[in-house]
Amino acid sequence: MHWKILFGMALGVLTGLALSQFSWGPSLVRDWIKPFGNIFINALKLIAVPLILASLIKGVSDLKDLTNLSKMGFRTVFTFILTTVTAVSIGLLLVNLIKPGSSISEETRMDLLSSYQTEASLNISKAETQKEVSPLQGLVEIVPENFLGAAADNRNMLQVIFFAIMVGVGLILIPGGAAKPVKDFFDGFNEVILKMIDVIMITAPIGVFALLATLVIDSPKIDLFAALGMYGLTVIVGLIIMIGFYVFIVFLFTKRSPKSFILGIAPAQLLAFSTSSSAATLPVTMERVTGHLGVSKEVASFVLPVGATINMDGTSLYQAVAAVFIAQAFGMDLSLGTQLGIILTATLASIGSAAVPGAGMVMLVIVLAQAGIPEAGLALIFGVDRPLDMCRTVVNVSGDAAVSTIVAKVVVEKPAATHLRNIPV
Ligand code: ASP
Repeated sequence: MHWKILFGMALGVLTGLALSQFSWGPSLVRDWIKPFGNIFINALKLIAVPLILASLIKGVSDLKDLTNLSKMGFRTVFTFILTTVTAVSIGLLLVNLIKPGSSISEETRMDLLSSYQTEASLNISKAETQKEVSPLQGLVEIVPENFLGAAADNRNMLQVIFFAIMVGVGLILIPGGAAKPVKDFFDGFNEVILKMIDVIMITAPIGVFALLATLVIDSPKIDLFAALGMYGLTVIVGLIIMIGFYVFIVFLFTKRSPKSFILGIAPAQLLAFSTSSSAATLPVTMERVTGHLGVSKEVASFVLPVGATINMDGTSLYQAVAAVFIAQAFGMDLSLGTQLGIILTATLASIGSAAVPGAGMVMLVIVLAQAGIPEAGLALIFGVDRPLDMCRTVVNVSGDAAVSTIVAKVVVEKPAATHLRNIPV
């Protein structure tokens, strides 16, 4: 599968490059190729809410015992926070060592600030509404007041997760006879959704072809990459280190070789790269870790939807690098205290970022505000955000997959068990 997807991606890039040579090329791509990319992403997004619902209800009710649920929940969230803090720290270390902001000339800075002012202020105003809310608002928003309202918007994943867990808990608590038909329904529904993912994935090479051809047509000018090269490089080096970190911890805890982990998760990584959305990639991540990394469905159906929503290591690393880069470009010296503050705000901001393209940049505004860095600096990095978004989404998805294999191995005594009665105390 990953070869087919890679082939589709390569063909997309070549087609985009070839057609951009003609004056009529870009509109041809936008009118006749881009829609197929949109159809593919829509189909993946369409699956996300039913998938979370069916798999979580099945996963939680299979646990048979609430102690197992709370144990797995606690350890999963704890591991997520640990990997996120690691990511932010790596980002901070690199950006302080490489100092990409110092190499940017005054002229380029002014150029960028004026070219992307409008886009930057749009993001700043989006983030404004987030900043005004009370400290516990995030918690309040996890509990929806209406299920259909929650399910109607892919940005409300946490609310759908909350509802699904509640249904699963209800199924555990009622007598077996009454629970059985409901449980059987969701077990069957889950199978149907998984089959739908297989069907959608047959079209993945065409989908990624269309997505990448469009990206090439819409990509920023090459001189922008030259100006922001050191910044982009810092983010990418950090992201590569994170992939190395996952491979290492997966090997440490599960003895799975780096090659088998990477090959197992590769199609999900390629899709994350093409779509820039962890939510859209979720169905495939789920299929890969259960089918190819030996993670039981019970663990995957809990860890992955929660991870796609709150565990964004690539995003948090990027936010740390971007914040310090902007400060450096403005000639600001950030104290150790401020940088430690960034660890906290970038961790929280990545948890709060939606699993959709560009979300990490909106939440970056909050990191900047907390650290006293000018928010207008967003204009500096706007031009190269999309390619970096593609790369950080790969890391976000890989992090979820890595944690799910570790949770399956460490939390569950028998990783291949069909249910989790044997969780060690
Ligand atoms: N696109 C990222 C994701 O979906 C979020 C972000 O960093 O913008 O995981």
